[in-house]
Amino acid sequence: MFAQLQLHERLLRALEENNFTEPTPVQQQAIPLILAGRDLRATAQTGSGKTAAFLLPVLHQLLSAEQSSPATRVLILVPTRELAGQIMDEVQRFSRYTFLQAAMLIGGEGFKEQSALLRKVPDILVATPGRLLEHIQAGSLPAGELRWLILDEADRMLDLGFADAMQAIIAACSNRQQTLLFSATTGGRALRDITQAVLRNPEHLMLNPVSQLSETTRQQVITVESDSHKEKVLAWLLANESYRKAMVFTSTRAMADQLYGRLRAQDYRVFVLHGEKTQDERKQALQRFSQGSERVLIATDVAARGLDIEGVDLVINFDLPRSGDEYVHRIGRTGRAGEDGLAISLIAHQDWNLMSSIQRYLKQDFEKRILPGLKGNYHGPKKVKASGKAAGSKKKKPADKTAKVAKKPVRKPSPPRKPLASDDGHAPLRKKPVARQDD
Ligand code: AMP
Repeated sequence: MFAQLQLHERLLRALEENNFTEPTPVQQQAIPLILAGRDLRATAQTGSGKTAAFLLPVLHQLLSAEQSSPATRVLILVPTRELAGQIMDEVQRFSRYTFLQAAMLIGGEGFKEQSALLRKVPDILVATPGRLLEHIQAGSLPAGELRWLILDEADRMLDLGFADAMQAIIAACSNRQQTLLFSATTGGRALRDITQAVLRNPEHLMLNPVSQLSETTRQQVITVESDSHKEKVLAWLLANESYRKAMVFTSTRAMADQLYGRLRAQDYRVFVLHGEKTQDERKQALQRFSQGSERVLIATDVAARGLDIEGVDLVINFDLPRSGDEYVHRIGRTGRAGEDGLAISLIAHQDWNLMSSIQRYLKQDFEKRILPGLKGNYHGPKKVKASGKAAGSKKKKPADKTAKVAKKPVRKPSPPRKPLASDDGHAPLRKKPVARQDD
């Protein structure tokens, strides 16, 4: 029960009104630690209730602290505009019976209007890194007054190329008393470095190790022989699976647009979300998807990041994600709160080894599925190694120069290969960070 967590009665009232009765596991564990003033590093996915897990104890401390003059004391830093909007909604929900004020600072909206908001000294700020840093540099936010710094989806902020902005913001919050860092995955070295540099003697919470990912979500793969075969499989799935809402992931904007056109032409109620869409288009599209007037969302990873949309019970990886972590991010949208979900990845021959790396990372085997009537000619490699990868897929070692070699005809160089993910779930040859589409 929330009452046992000793939160301020005004917060308890808002919780009751929103029918929050039982804290989720992340709330149960994080709230007492944060109330005790500890820095915290928590691995918890969107959907786990992590937002309330940091918001409630921080709001409680704000309400309990004596304050002589108004100051902006809490900064919640997030990777995308959509996530900022969702967190802002939660702040408003929980602070309804308090006098606390919050403001949102995101890219794509008026800088002057935001400066005016800052002059009113809101207690809480929810912001994306690029825009927030601009305000600090313009002198419109006295960051030295901030006491609580929350880095939400820190792994994603790093993935999006915000490392420098994050460092600068953290350095500017020099008088903070508590720092909380949340991420959906355990992340890589950059996250470990930032955790070490930023948190003071932190508690660590590991709420959803990836091996326990989405117990209620079935995970399937369907092999495909070509892009046009993939499109047919996708259309079949959207027409024949039973689902309330479906998300289809592509790795590029161009492919997302192409699928959108094809599906629209077949009368699917579908929309597309990627970084080139304007803020208004995104808002409108998300609203329609949330309300259920459109049932299929095609998205790139960046655009879909952090969205919390109820009722997504089918996720289709039209293109396979580049890493195990990315897979976790995508699939985390289904099977929420114990509901059943289905995740289907379409696998062409060049995706096989990446798929087996992801399986190893998750410590799960995907179910192989064949669609009668749409079988195609590719069904996986003839032989697989113990790792699950295709046998004979490793590059041959260069020949020993000292050995006598018979003269061979000169071969044409083979085309560059797609990078394969290593077993820690990260592609070893990461492309440069994606352009900051969301800030
Ligand atoms: P989050 O992981 O913070 O994105 O939360 C996912 C969804 O669960 C949000 O819509 C929250 O409002 C909701 N939620 C969080 N905690 C609880 C709770 N203890 N009881 C009911 N709903 C909750």
